[in-house]
Amino acid sequence: MTQLITKTNELLKIRHELKLTPEDSIGFVPTMGNLHQGHLSLIEESLQKNSLTFVSIFVNPKQFAPHEDFNKYPRTLESDLALINSLNSKKPIYVYAPATPLEVFPENYLTQIYVRELTQKLCGKTRPTHFEGVTTVVYRLFSLIRPHNSYFGLKDYQQYLVIQKMVNDLNLPINVFGLPIVREASGLALSSRNSFLSSEGKAAALTLAQLLHKVTALLKKGSFNEALQLAKITCENDKYWDYLEILEADTLNTPTLQTKKFVIAGAYYVEKTRLIDNQLLTL
Ligand code: AMP
Repeated sequence: MTQLITKTNELLKIRHELKLTPEDSIGFVPTMGNLHQGHLSLIEESLQKNSLTFVSIFVNPKQFAPHEDFNKYPRTLESDLALINSLNSKKPIYVYAPATPLEVFPENYLTQIYVRELTQKLCGKTRPTHFEGVTTVVYRLFSLIRPHNSYFGLKDYQQYLVIQKMVNDLNLPINVFGLPIVREASGLALSSRNSFLSSEGKAAALTLAQLLHKVTALLKKGSFNEALQLAKITCENDKYWDYLEILEADTLNTPTLQTKKFVIAGAYYVEKTRLIDNQLLTL
């Protein structure tokens, strides 16, 4: 039971006319499409926990800088819909895939949502305007769809934290859930951007997950200084690393002796594609 919606007016009408009982809830999964098992894990969780699910498929121009891959980002609506249909859901799934960016951000649209501090770390250093684009579109989608529950992948851990912060700071009545990273058997985290990689590139990309794993293993056995050293030397010796950092998971601050929950996060360039991945560790 999948219904495709390409116009915002149509979305608002459908949402307005939904007849919900107090037991009903709406789950929402925002995506940029080119769906894979990582996205499907979020949709399946939403289907399981809610009476109906909205999925958005929108390559959001606001989260790409002019030199980034907005134009070449894979747009595969037909196969995305086929994948969603393959879930054979008995519950309704509404796929909001705006026909053009103007459906989401009309010409007179002026409002930006910006979360400070958290957005300046990790990816924010290389992509200083990225998270502003993300929070602006997610807020907009939240206000159009008015879900009760929303589902994000921990693959984009910083994004998940930033959305949580926005929702908490603005008291939005929406639960934000972060779901585990889905990986290939090789350890490579699934990503729409993997489709840009040649087979050699895919092999080279394994470095990212492997190094995160090594740093995490050192932390696990209590060798904090060795872990820090490995992260530092790795970045110094291989120019394709954008960052490889060990941070406090909830704040993205530098860990202290009291830190219990860590995120080990990396961004790595392979054939001009920037890949991100992370591991969470609670000691
Ligand atoms: P995107 O289409 O890349 O914007 O991703 C949409 C949602 O899917 C985000 O919440 C991502 O974190 C999540 N996602 C992407 N890749 C994965 C993955 N490998 N495992 C789990 N979630 C993922």
